[in-house]
Amino acid sequence: MKNLLALNWKMNKTPSEARSWAAELSERFEAGNAELVVMAPFVTISALAANLPAGVGLGAQDVSAHESGAYTGETSAAMLADLGVGYVVVGHSERREYHGETDAEVAAKAKLVQANGLVPIVCVGEKLDVREKGQQVASTLAQLSGSLEGVGADVVVAYEPVWAIGTGKTATAVAAEELAAAIRSALETRYGKKASDIRILYGGSVKPDNIASICAKPNVNGALVGGASLKVPDVLGMNEALKDI
Ligand code: PEP
Repeated sequence: MKNLLALNWKMNKTPSEARSWAAELSERFEAGNAELVVMAPFVTISALAANLPAGVGLGAQDVSAHESGAYTGETSAAMLADLGVGYVVVGHSERREYHGETDAEVAAKAKLVQANGLVPIVCVGEKLDVREKGQQVASTLAQLSGSLEGVGADVVVAYEPVWAIGTGKTATAVAAEELAAAIRSALETRYGKKASDIRILYGGSVKPDNIASICAKPNVNGALVGGASLKVPDVLGMNEALKDI
């Protein structure tokens, strides 16, 4: 299965900056073994759509849990589909933490994403206190179960231990695989044979020098990357590092 490298810009880059980033990437980007997708702020998606090199897809970082109507400030899955977006992150820990998103809301968003022909990237992962108590597997699987309620198998799951996001602390490849294997097994229970085609990403301070060892693990099929997604040389480095995996 092709690794997915999902570049989560978070609230960074104006449309003009996004155009410059895409131009710089286009100069040196060579499509390799990994599938690349930029999870851009809503307002930069159009700027990127016109400037990304072939082989790099468009994504979004969130979506409304409602189909359409009187929800001021929201962006629907249908709007994202119309822009050419392929993947949508749902349930990122920053949305769960700062916007109080529940598993049920995450599942509602994922279902609408799928209903519009797009693929949700459903994020799960434990906080530091949970890991310190050794409860990371049970906690992450409980979150996964709630976040996938009624969601079809055409989904990507991102395991992102919250303590590793933006902190420079990365889970070891062994720890990432422990959770990815547990997630795979839960997906098998939920989706049967289709589970073997579901990509499980790792996220948390991934960089060019650690991506290969993590993605080489049998149940890890790519990475969700925040900080290292902003600079083109880092993206090229990660793309290169995934070439032989
Ligand atoms: C993320 O944004 O999901 C993420 C993993 O960020 P970082 O790579 O900066 O830890």
